[in-house]
Amino acid sequence: MRVGTGYDVHRLTEGRDLILGGVNIPCTKGLLGHSDADVLLHAIMDALLGAAALGDIGKHFPDTDEAYRGISSLKLLEHVAGLLEEKKYLIENIDATIIAQKPKLRPYIDQMEQNIADTLRMDRGQINVKATTEEGLGFTGAMEGIAAQAVCCLSSIYEGSFVVADSMRTGCSSCEGCKKTLL
Ligand code: MG
Repeated sequence: MRVGTGYDVHRLTEGRDLILGGVNIPCTKGLLGHSDADVLLHAIMDALLGAAALGDIGKHFPDTDEAYRGISSLKLLEHVAGLLEEKKYLIENIDATIIAQKPKLRPYIDQMEQNIADTLRMDRGQINVKATTEEGLGFTGAMEGIAAQAVCCLSSIYEGSFVVADSMRTGCSSCEGCKKTLL
């Protein structure tokens, strides 16, 4: 089992759409960024890449690359899913938190979870998205920006072979000679 964490912040500004989890949410301000600035999906991608030791989204999707200007972060998430698939990792679960003073996000969370599940080909029950405020404190409280955090667990299809190796070690623990040889 491998664990990854992700964290991201984007600045709120006028004249931009507010897109979180692939959902366009009515708001007077949106998030500023090179892509669609979907801070939730960015945190989730960093968690997934971190768990797989594949770096971060800045490495895979540099903001100097015109190919990613205005791109939907769901497309980037799909690419990350492909990278994990190549490495034979399975996503066990994702838990994420959006930190925003406004707007109220509860009505949109089911759709965010569905978008993430569809893109990663996972069950809804493996994905949890939460939203909280920071009680008016700090940059999220002042509505200067929105932050997101994410944690995920990956397993590998090769983990079965590690179980066999562990049982071999356990099996030899009663024999000092074998223990020395195998450990
Ligand atoms: Mg970002």
